[in-house]
Amino acid sequence: MTRPPMRDDLVLLPGYHSPQLGVAVRLNTNESPSPPPERWRRALAAELERIDWHRYPDRQAHELRAALAQHYGCEPSMVMVANGSNEIIQGLLLAFGGAGRQAAVFEPTYAMHSHISRITGTQVVVGERQADLRLGRAEVDRVFDLEPDVVFLCSPNNPTGILEPEELVRHVADRGREQGVLVVVDEAYGQFAPWSALELVDEDNTVVVSRTFSKTWSMAAARLGYAIGPSWAVEALEAVSLPYHIDAAKQVAGRLALEYHHEMRDRVDRLVDERERLVGALRELGVEQWPSHANFILFRPPGDGDRVWQALLDRGVLVRNCASWPRLGGCLRVTVGRAEENDAFLHALAEILGS
Ligand SMILES: *Cc1c(COP(=O)(O)O)cnc(C)c1O
Repeated sequence: MTRPPMRDDLVLLPGYHSPQLGVAVRLNTNESPSPPPERWRRALAAELERIDWHRYPDRQAHELRAALAQHYGCEPSMVMVANGSNEIIQGLLLAFGGAGRQAAVFEPTYAMHSHISRITGTQVVVGERQADLRLGRAEVDRVFDLEPDVVFLCSPNNPTGILEPEELVRHVADRGREQGVLVVVDEAYGQFAPWSALELVDEDNTVVVSRTFSKTWSMAAARLGYAIGPSWAVEALEAVSLPYHIDAAKQVAGRLALEYHHEMRDRVDRLVDERERLVGALRELGVEQWPSHANFILFRPPGDGDRVWQALLDRGVLVRNCASWPRLGGCLRVTVGRAEENDAFLHALAEILGS
């Protein structure tokens, strides 16, 4: 047998590496530490009873998209849903990127933006953040002058937690509109931010905002994400989606979740309180950290980051190891968990740092 060769440009591509380990305290993937409301679970179970399992689901996911449109005060024609916001990103790249086209990212940022670009055959243009990991306007202009087809922003940014200032996002949107460049603002942590690029979404701008049920909505298991953008971008996403790509159960799960948005906000508020407690404790430990507007904190413990990561794991605490990532030497990222999980993390870290 001769094995069919994989695409040359994919052979050397590293995969997505975040170990799923069965330890007691898992603070490595920015999930919500608390489940969705019990009432949601019961309402979902009741609706699942009524699903016609022998029929294909609503291909357009009308009810879910209408519910999202109502939630955000926009037209249903400006909403697209997908199996996680990563699939939204994939769809945007299939439609607006691809062979012979370029997508720009500002590193360090969410690795999937460049990864999915490469998988879709889109060349990656790398913009650089400043030493303090903030993004400068001159660098935005330099990258736009290279004439990319798609530009990614992530705000609050993962893995830094840093919020992009409104003026900067507006500047990116202006350049995108002038040059006809699709601007994708990944707001997976948007509920933690005081301002959203949703304000910029309209038919005459080229801004698409992607969001997810995986983080603040406490539904990582559901794999549901969505985009809010001009209807021409939504049509482009529809054009590259597989038929019936959102299953019936997921459509119900998302629609019902929106009815519990007050509970979601309460969870966000509790996480912010816990985050600030962690920030204070890390400061007391003398650990370098970056200002977070999300449910995680990027920090750099003194000494060898890999060793600290392993020592935390040995104490049953899993955080994200960014120590060998370019531009983030020695850094780790901890997700804000429940109070007792955060205590376990702080206790273990203090022990490791010997204070
Ligand atoms: C977690 C995360 C996502 C979520 O992806 P899903 O596919 O919706 O689970 C998207 N973007 C960023 C920046 C993230 O951190």
